[in-house]
Amino acid sequence: MKQILWFRRDLRIEDNAILSNAKDEVLPIFIFDKNILDKLPKDDKRVTFIYETVLSLKKQLKEKGLDLAIFYGKPKDIIKNLKDGFDEILCSCDFDDYAKNRDKQIEEFLPMKRFYDSFITHPNEHLKNDGTPYKVFTPYYKSMNMITTSSSIETYKFNESLKKIEFDYETIPSLEDMGFEKVELPEFLTKNVCILMEEFTSKLEEYQENRDFFFKDGTSKLSVHLRFGIVSPKQLFNYYRKYNYSEGFIRELFWREFYNYILYHFPYSQFDNFNGMSIKWNENEDDFIKWCEGNTGVPIIDAAMRHLNETGTMHNRLRMIVCSFLTKNLFIDWKKGEGYFALKLLDYECSSNVGSWQWGASTGADAAPYFRVFNPYTQSLKFDKDGIFIKSVIKDFESLSPRLFHIENGVQSNLFVDYPKSMVDISLSRKMAIDRFKEAKNV
Ligand SMILES: Cc1cc2nc3c(=O)[nH]c(=O)nc-3n(C[C@H](O)[C@H](O)[C@H](O)COP(=O)(O)OP(=O)(O)OC[C@H]3O[C@@H](n4cnc5c(N)ncnc54)[C@H](O)[C@@H]3O)c2cc1C
Repeated sequence: MKQILWFRRDLRIEDNAILSNAKDEVLPIFIFDKNILDKLPKDDKRVTFIYETVLSLKKQLKEKGLDLAIFYGKPKDIIKNLKDGFDEILCSCDFDDYAKNRDKQIEEFLPMKRFYDSFITHPNEHLKNDGTPYKVFTPYYKSMNMITTSSSIETYKFNESLKKIEFDYETIPSLEDMGFEKVELPEFLTKNVCILMEEFTSKLEEYQENRDFFFKDGTSKLSVHLRFGIVSPKQLFNYYRKYNYSEGFIRELFWREFYNYILYHFPYSQFDNFNGMSIKWNENEDDFIKWCEGNTGVPIIDAAMRHLNETGTMHNRLRMIVCSFLTKNLFIDWKKGEGYFALKLLDYECSSNVGSWQWGASTGADAAPYFRVFNPYTQSLKFDKDGIFIKSVIKDFESLSPRLFHIENGVQSNLFVDYPKSMVDISLSRKMAIDRFKEAKNV
């Protein structure tokens, strides 16, 4: 038996289904996918991060007596050239639209055996009694009780008997060959995942109290590692489950599961309103650009968006606030915000991003009710009272009283600060959004 082990979103050795299920002789590969990379700017941070991760995976595989062949091109062309002499491809599965179409094409050349190890549960498990999928998180989560309360979940064991197929493993495309430059990554991404996991242990007990305060370092920062499979969700579950205060964190891991479940069962939700509502959104491009660039005149929104543009990261609470502002106060389609996040977020994951955007826009599964519109000023007062986060991003505000950040057009009242007037009246735009949602609901 000769198998290609195609690493995609499972860039790890531990708890890896393909390394456990493979037999005999194997060719482990990674493809830098031209179809995806061609759409990215040359300073995309994710490419530097994946590049370094893939080289590290190669090193770890070598230590196990295997290796990793690294390609740059279109997966279809690469597999077509490789296929002779192989029986099948083993890979971890992915449910977004591009991944499903890509795999369909590949299967025309070579059988694919897909494994499900990027998530804890398979979406086909845990259906309602009538055999249909859950659409609401709480009953979905309750149906997982057996898993969420267990002390550990079985993981995949590495098959030590695998033999590497002789191949040219030494030719490795450089970042420059692929049209990218090496960029500086946020500090947490330069750390080994085990160190990040250990660091979070000391924050776990206060996770529930701290997780919404975006000026604090209260969350795990593990989403990027989960996205690329440097650590598996089962490993995280087993690592933190032993602490009796891990429930809140585990629940968040299952929001990730839930959104993947929703995308699997309702693939149309990647492109359309999950709840079928027909909404006439504001299509003003200038409004959208102001939001993207962080020039809305609302300090918390601008700080969050400028921080995203600079670092590729955004705290969950801030994601909820900027999402509400875009879809409710500016009344711009969630798909535009979703697309912008997809371009910028280091942890961009189709299912979580689409699910969360639809949640915030009140169009999704178990979504926020349409009349729930975050007031950005109340949010900044509650979660960044002293303006620590806002000042850390917008340096011009350093000497200002934080009180001004939490009042509409408060900063603008200081004549020495050059800052645009708020692009919308918060309560008026809120009222208009609610009326438009009511109208759409009644059609
Ligand atoms: C508009 C919007 C877009 C989002 N887009 C993404 C995305 O593209 N990729 C992504 O991984 N997360 C996304 N999230 C969810 C969440 O913001 C991030 O997972 C979280 O901020 C990552 O930081 P952390 O690892 O420190 O999280 P922690 O608080 O430490 O949580 C642990 C893990 O649980 C999962 N998780 C936590 N909250 C959520 C959530 N609300 N939904 C789904 N999974 C969650 C993540 O995998 C996270 O790493 C989005 C949320 C919103 C509101």
